[in-house]
Amino acid sequence: MRVNLGHLLKQPMGESVAYKVAEDPIDPRGDNADLLDADIRAIDADVKATHTNPGAYLQGDARARVSQQCVRCLRPIESEVEATFAEQYYATLTVDSGAPMREPPPDSKTIGPDFNVDLTPLLREEVILATPQAPLCRPDCRGLCQVCGKDLNESPHDHEAPADDRWAALRGFKAGDG
Ligand SMILES: [Zn+2]
Ligand SMILES: [Zn+2]
Repeated sequence: MRVNLGHLLKQPMGESVAYKVAEDPIDPRGDNADLLDADIRAIDADVKATHTNPGAYLQGDARARVSQQCVRCLRPIESEVEATFAEQYYATLTVDSGAPMREPPPDSKTIGPDFNVDLTPLLREEVILATPQAPLCRPDCRGLCQVCGKDLNESPHDHEAPADDRWAALRGFKAGDG
């Protein structure tokens, strides 16, 4: 999901431009297939870019649909995830003359020589951070039976305590024997 900051960087310092990026569903053969590796199926984001001295400050929010699994009953679910972000992107060339800018700090995000910024890595990172770690299909999910593994939402049941089961087996044995 690329935005071109060339126009913004020609504006006076402090000016902003709003962008909207979206893909639903994410195309496995498209530019944003990396999002699918993080189980992100759809995303849309509003971004405000402000011209700052070394480049552009990008802030906004993203909404994503993420494939997950209920931690109790293991059925597949989709979580709606909202993430906010704010990140400085450093220009590497001046937009007017194409002259190189001062070296950006190490590990900082940079604006390419074509003034495009790929938002996908940032959105991916922020959505992963905002995704629930222990999602439930519903708040009162009963989960799987510890004894037989059946889904207790679909077939609510109880087992007798294991000690009782042993006595039952013994009683059955004696009855059959006599
Ligand atoms: Zn569940
Ligand atoms: Zn059971």
